[in-house]
Amino acid sequence: MKWECYFVQQWNLLVKLKFCHTCQVIRPPRSFHCRVCKSCIENLDHHCFWLSKCIGKHNYNHFIVFISTLLIGTIYFYILCITRFFSSNISHKIKEFSPDLYYPIITWPILIFLIPLSILHIRLNLRDQTTIEYLKNVR
Ligand SMILES: [Zn+2]
Ligand SMILES: [Zn+2]
Repeated sequence: MKWECYFVQQWNLLVKLKFCHTCQVIRPPRSFHCRVCKSCIENLDHHCFWLSKCIGKHNYNHFIVFISTLLIGTIYFYILCITRFFSSNISHKIKEFSPDLYYPIITWPILIFLIPLSILHIRLNLRDQTTIEYLKNVR
């Protein structure tokens, strides 16, 4: 795949634009081509395989709200299970392998994944940086 570069003067800045041969468009700044979706996305953050969708300029805030509510819901669910587990006969619940015991075990890996993901994206959002720019150390 060949990439051609174009330079456009905007105010006092020289902006570098790339031509995407697959989409046949000159990409706006901060845009990237998603190989999964086979299209150029403005402010592409990443292609989310869980949502089967690109996360970019038009849905990044929705993504932040989604992972934040998912995190809050998982923490709330986790706390509910723990409090229910310790509220009554613990030995009986362990013997019967109650849902109050195995739900927190199931949700623990989700929490381990969601906490750093939420912190990363809130931090990137505050810095006005995408995951691709963060990984490439562009901005
Ligand atoms: Zn493209
Ligand atoms: Zn994509």
